[in-house]
Amino acid sequence: MQITHAPVGGAAAPPEWFTGDAWIAPLAEPGGGAPTQIDSVRFAPGGRTVWHRHRLGQVLVVTQGTGRVQRRGGPVETIQTGDVVRIAPGEWHWHGAAPDRPMTHLAIEPIPAEGDPAEAGEPVGDGEYRGDAARGVPPITRTVLLDQVLAPPRGTHRVEVRRITIAPGREAGLHVHNGPVFGSIETGSAVYQIEGEAAAVLGPGDVFYEPEGARVARFDAEEEGVTFLGYFLLGAGQTAEIEFPAR
Ligand code: MN
Repeated sequence: MQITHAPVGGAAAPPEWFTGDAWIAPLAEPGGGAPTQIDSVRFAPGGRTVWHRHRLGQVLVVTQGTGRVQRRGGPVETIQTGDVVRIAPGEWHWHGAAPDRPMTHLAIEPIPAEGDPAEAGEPVGDGEYRGDAARGVPPITRTVLLDQVLAPPRGTHRVEVRRITIAPGREAGLHVHNGPVFGSIETGSAVYQIEGEAAAVLGPGDVFYEPEGARVARFDAEEEGVTFLGYFLLGAGQTAEIEFPAR
């Protein structure tokens, strides 16, 4: 008899088999006529194996925490303390922790007399790990935020993209650009108003358009300041200029 008290440590898992942080503590190794490997595998949140398969299959017993497991072609499933997962011989699969919880499982794997007991495949990508495909989340989305006709129609030779930051509470002041300007807010917020039109509060993701020659009465950063991308449409030889007319 041999007692190993609460083996919680383990060695860092090999990176070609794992993504993120995981540790393996071997509990029983094949020998003495018992051809079975038993490991305790601990995953940090987000840690998981790569896609892999075991020649003779595998049994997982979750001993602590919350995890994820998926077989090829199936959904990403949640597993918890006490759950048992039986993986068929040759079945491609992965297992790991939940995105925000650690997980420890026993991995019980029969070892064939000859040849590799398991085969590693591709890493499990972040979207795959989140189960995006099963939830119908498309890998790319394209959304039209603004479809603006320019007045007057103009020949645009180049577009300058600038990141502009206005300090908290600072006001841009009444100003006029010598060409059309488009913008999109990255962080913070601002009160935006073209003279004679309604004011609007722009926040992250909002887009705006300042027509050529328009008098922009307000572009006032609110209390957290504002950072936005400005797209300046310029003719050949033209430089982006800003004027601050007297009211
Ligand atoms: Mn496995």
